[in-house]
Amino acid sequence: MKQTPFDVIVIGGGHAGAEAAHASARAGARTTLVTMRADTIGVMSCNPAIGGLGKGHLVREIDAMGGIMGLAADRSGIQFRLLNRRKGPAVRGPRTQSDRALYKAAIQDLLGQQPNLTILVGEVADLILRDGRIEGVGLSDGSELRAGAVVLTTGTFLRGVIHIGDRKLEGGRMGDRPSNRLAQRLRDLDLPLGRLKTGTPPRLRSSSIAWDSLDMQAPDDDPMLFSYLSKAPTARQISCGITHTNARTHEIISGNLSRSAMYGGHIEGVGPRYCPSIEDKVVRFADKSSHQIFLEPEGLDSDVVYPNGISTSLPEDVQEAYVRSIVGLEQAEILQPGYAIEYDYVDPQRLTAELELPDLPGLFLAGQINGTTGYEEAAAQGLMAGLNAARRVLGHAPVILGRAEAYIGVLIDDLVTRGVTEPYRMFTSRAEYRLSLRADNADQRLTPKADTLGVIAEDRRVLFFQKMEALDRGRVLLSTKRFTPRDIAVTGIVINQDGQRRSGMEILAFPDVGVEHVDQLIPEFAALPDEVRTQLAIEATYKTYVDRQQRDADALRRDEDLIIPRTLAYAEIGGLSNELRGKLDRIRPGTLGQAGRIDGMTPAALALILTRIRHED
Ligand code: FAD
Repeated sequence: MKQTPFDVIVIGGGHAGAEAAHASARAGARTTLVTMRADTIGVMSCNPAIGGLGKGHLVREIDAMGGIMGLAADRSGIQFRLLNRRKGPAVRGPRTQSDRALYKAAIQDLLGQQPNLTILVGEVADLILRDGRIEGVGLSDGSELRAGAVVLTTGTFLRGVIHIGDRKLEGGRMGDRPSNRLAQRLRDLDLPLGRLKTGTPPRLRSSSIAWDSLDMQAPDDDPMLFSYLSKAPTARQISCGITHTNARTHEIISGNLSRSAMYGGHIEGVGPRYCPSIEDKVVRFADKSSHQIFLEPEGLDSDVVYPNGISTSLPEDVQEAYVRSIVGLEQAEILQPGYAIEYDYVDPQRLTAELELPDLPGLFLAGQINGTTGYEEAAAQGLMAGLNAARRVLGHAPVILGRAEAYIGVLIDDLVTRGVTEPYRMFTSRAEYRLSLRADNADQRLTPKADTLGVIAEDRRVLFFQKMEALDRGRVLLSTKRFTPRDIAVTGIVINQDGQRRSGMEILAFPDVGVEHVDQLIPEFAALPDEVRTQLAIEATYKTYVDRQQRDADALRRDEDLIIPRTLAYAEIGGLSNELRGKLDRIRPGTLGQAGRIDGMTPAALALILTRIRHED
């Protein structure tokens, strides 16, 4: 048998590619990452931030599986904030602003330390097939590389076109050339390609901003990090500025809409509805007189600021005019104009749940090429595609995460079963089982699986099993002893004097009870690490809900075949978004199962429809 030099080739050094290559190498496959430029491995193409609602969950899960995004985010984080802090733990989203240079350096360092992994600079121009199977890649210099599997993660580069007003230039992102030959090869292979677009705001010179006139947002005092291996931020923590658009800004934008690449009809691709450009916001939310903008420094030693909230494809003179109409930005200097980018993507419905193209066995796809947007979504797919490519070549069974197991499972299932009509991003509302898929318990859900697959390092293994032991000890302590209301009153908690004896777990589930109260009742519990006690308190709070959610999920599954009357008046169902109402009216699904597969349908909306059907019976 001919010996191939590599088991797996990963094309692309973005967020999907970095995670795919690392995962493949960890899984034991001889892996090479081929990318156009070594210095852009790990580059953040758009916003200098990792995590957020739904996205933060993905990063914690990637970390729990032994991935690198969480570690790089922790090493480069300059403003950690837990979003939705006042809401329940299930929907809290860890986020950090990152120092761009530190993030890229961390990714390059982590890849450099990984055994089994080499990095090669080159442009992949061809896919080599034999008998319909992928056998390697051809580079633009004419050389060839052979491997048992290939993971394609070319992001926004396939036939990338940058738009600034009516100015068009070819590019994978600003400063990088596009990938046209490979895009043509994919066309020749008859892959189902579509066009999507995304945009980025102008970058501003920090020293030209009047920071003194702005409100500032400080980092959290007790930051939640991404990696289970990290203890505390390593970079200095800083604040970002907050400002707002105003009537004048909106006037300038409205008066120049025809000059925007998107509104001027220069772009055919569909953009991300959830990351709208400032033109979109002014048009779609015409009743709003102002939109918030976060002024995020791109690094500790950088003079560049990323104004989060004003991405645009307007021409440069209009960008300057509207930026300077904003408080604090009157003298702002634009260092790089905002732009929109259009690129090819592959319909992910063609992929298997392993992220492989069954028509071209051995070819796996991950990241923006599958119609998603966002670093975290890309990295999550990269992790799974890299693992599966390696396991395929090494003759092991595939790894697929279910919707009840991980947000990663939700993401991939959504992509391959429903496809995309616009760039897909993760939200907590996409997960049916979000009360159990929390950012805090990603390690408990996934690290044992990663351990079985042999893809986590020894230090993570040891830490994880120590934590599990402590959690088990805590659970025993919280369930064996029982306390009367009078015992409990000693701690200062007032509950019903019903004479009922309660376990520590039951006491912790009361709304105003914290670990400090239970510490007083069970001294051995007080001796457990903070992290473990906090985790057990979350478990206690959610226990009843998680059990109920499981019952609801089982019931919903039974209701899949329920007939929806053709005449159902969706307009009368309160709580449905206008967008879903429109889709339901148009599609008129015949069963609840069919309604569930409509793009954008949420578990909550399905429950509303179910209630309505029952009500009409
Ligand atoms: P990328 O990060 O794009 O990486 C692709 C990699 O493939 C690069 O390393 C490139 O060199 C390499 N490559 C490409 N072709 C070849 C080839 N033929 N041979 C070898 N190497 C190749 N996300 C958001 O969440 N919100 C936003 O608002 C947002 N705005 C964006 C605006 C712009 C202008 C851009 C460019 C991106 C934006 N993104 C946004 C998207 C975000 O950058 C991507 O989701 C993320 O980077 C995708 O990661 P990826 O690994 O799939 O691809």
